[in-house]
Amino acid sequence: MRVVVIGAGVVGSAVAAGLTRRGAQVTVLEARTPGAGTTSTSVAWINANNKTPKEYFDLNHAAVWAHHQLPGDWFFPTGNLECAVTDEHKQLLETRVGRLLDMGYPVERVSARRALALEPDLVPPPPGTEYVFFPGEAYVQPLRLLGRLLGEARDGGATLECGAEVTAIETSSSGVKVTLADGRTFAGDVVVTCTGRWTQQVAALAGATVPMLDPAVSGTVTNGFLVTTTPVPARLSRVLTTAALNLRPDGGGRMLLQSLPLDGLADPATPVPAEVLTEILTLLPGVLHGTEGASVERAVVGQRAMPGDGLTVAGFADAERRVYTVATHSGVTLAPLLMSEVAAEVFGTESELLSPFRPARFTDGTAGPAPTPARRPGQQ
Ligand SMILES: Cc1cc2nc3c(=O)[nH]c(=O)nc-3n(C[C@H](O)[C@H](O)[C@H](O)COP(=O)(O)OP(=O)(O)OC[C@H]3O[C@@H](n4cnc5c(N)ncnc54)[C@H](O)[C@@H]3O)c2cc1C
Repeated sequence: MRVVVIGAGVVGSAVAAGLTRRGAQVTVLEARTPGAGTTSTSVAWINANNKTPKEYFDLNHAAVWAHHQLPGDWFFPTGNLECAVTDEHKQLLETRVGRLLDMGYPVERVSARRALALEPDLVPPPPGTEYVFFPGEAYVQPLRLLGRLLGEARDGGATLECGAEVTAIETSSSGVKVTLADGRTFAGDVVVTCTGRWTQQVAALAGATVPMLDPAVSGTVTNGFLVTTTPVPARLSRVLTTAALNLRPDGGGRMLLQSLPLDGLADPATPVPAEVLTEILTLLPGVLHGTEGASVERAVVGQRAMPGDGLTVAGFADAERRVYTVATHSGVTLAPLLMSEVAAEVFGTESELLSPFRPARFTDGTAGPAPTPARRPGQQ
């Protein structure tokens, strides 16, 4: 089977690898360079922690375990430690922990002493703080994961075209023809769109309706700040989540910081405001010893790929089954699972995990409402 994959983010790279595993002849078309989209601005925390409804949790939970089956030096299976100080956070955490335990998700309520044994540089929060450790969770270096997946696809015979912006998709009974902005054309039996936050426009080229929340609108759920510090002499081994600040190691002593309460100020059209950087850097030494004097090495506004109802979209978008579309938030978590499940579906085997997420929900009126902008602890 000849398959044209559009988009070489972490999702397209995973899908390309999965397809070559099944013997497909794959061409990957990428408008810019691999990883140039949302994949390069991701916390890359591997989790199913605050994912609802149940079908979406199941998909993410299966994906967390798919990462554990794909070990490598981009993958840090060190878990996530969450610290709840305020009554509101404690209540939200308690409800979430109960739900996750009922669904068989690895969760440990831990003492302050155990929390400090896990993260010795944690600034001890006030007495009464609740600590929960999620031992199955992890983080990855997203571009290295992408490289691993794209490398496998390349080893399996896939070809990659960079600077290859797709501007037309035509289907017929004999196959699909994809045209680039520079006029080149590529033929296949099936096209798989893996174009993240550009999915609405790219799916529309094939006549498909896949509404995405507009990633250009400031203050919406699609946008979030990410700040990487200069190297600091602090010990941190895992994702650490608090109400005000989420952090994880980012290689070479750097920390990757995210403050969900500030994300409402994120505007992709402007640089990260100086007062936001100051506030995030001020929060850091209150959470982790050894970070005093850290400065900013990189600060960006990440733009999430968020389907209209916040849930994954995966499935054929046309009756002739020539155009398959995948778009999702949490794509870094989901990538190793999408690798096998999407490839299986392209080859005709329906995935039970993906069946609740068909694009048809946006045309038959069964799609749910857009997610609320406020992101809570346990989300990313
Ligand atoms: C602030 C933030 C924090 C996040 N944290 C996490 C987290 O902790 N855990 C997690 O799992 N996920 C997280 N995510 C989400 C995750 O990063 C994304 O879901 C994932 O990277 C999406 O990958 P993708 O391959 O679908 O999209 P992208 O990486 O955007 O790739 C899409 C590619 O398609 C290409 N393309 C677009 N249009 C065309 C065209 N016409 N022709 C050819 N190519 C085209 C683009 O150039 C791009 O390279 C976070 C996202 C943000 C913004």
